[in-house]
Amino acid sequence: MGEARKGQAVKGQAVKGSSKRPPVKKGPRNLIIFTAIIVVLFVLMVVLNQAAKEPVTLDKAPDITNQPVEGSQEAKVNIVEFGDYKCPTCKAWGEQIYPKLKKDYIDTGKVKFSYINVLFHGEESKLGAIAGESIWAQNPEAFWPFHEALFKAQPAVNHDDLWLTPEKVLEVAGTISPAIDADKLKSDMDSQATLPQVELDEKLVEEFKITGTPTIMINKVKLDDPFDYDAIVKLIEEGQ
Ligand code: CA
Repeated sequence: MGEARKGQAVKGQAVKGSSKRPPVKKGPRNLIIFTAIIVVLFVLMVVLNQAAKEPVTLDKAPDITNQPVEGSQEAKVNIVEFGDYKCPTCKAWGEQIYPKLKKDYIDTGKVKFSYINVLFHGEESKLGAIAGESIWAQNPEAFWPFHEALFKAQPAVNHDDLWLTPEKVLEVAGTISPAIDADKLKSDMDSQATLPQVELDEKLVEEFKITGTPTIMINKVKLDDPFDYDAIVKLIEEGQ
């Protein structure tokens, strides 16, 4: 009760505009300002911390015209892998993340998936890309089995050693179903017939400032960690 009376007295003084008012209100006001500053700093810290971990949202998604597309055309979410058949991390992504993505989202019609070639490992990357584009041109349905089989053929160790040769491509292509025309594939590799498609991919690599493989984009978002399946799921669900 004593405290209440003191409060009433203070209130009365404030209304009258007494000279005692500032010292009486200063304490609570300072406390409020101090608390506000702490709250703002805390919120800023949380936001900055999240920003450091968040994927990067770009102005647009890659244009997938003339690119291999797997899944329903009606799917609202488009995922693009910028990959390289010579890249061991791409092989790992294809074995660890892609099968889950395919089962949960591509085969269920929620996601369409595209692959764009990156040539970070020189002539072997280029040959793999030219071969992939050749098979895509022959029969789009044969592309994904070939894509998977070529990554599978990448050696688990010493992957920097020469392995991606025309002979290896023909051997891998001979195992896939539906079957493709091996002579056409060989002549496309010899003459680099699908080089314009590979160059189109290189332009996208440049446009989207791809610096590592695999880079995974989900619509306009470039993932910070392509192996973070929870982040992939979150972005897909947000896009539905
Ligand atoms: Ca392409």
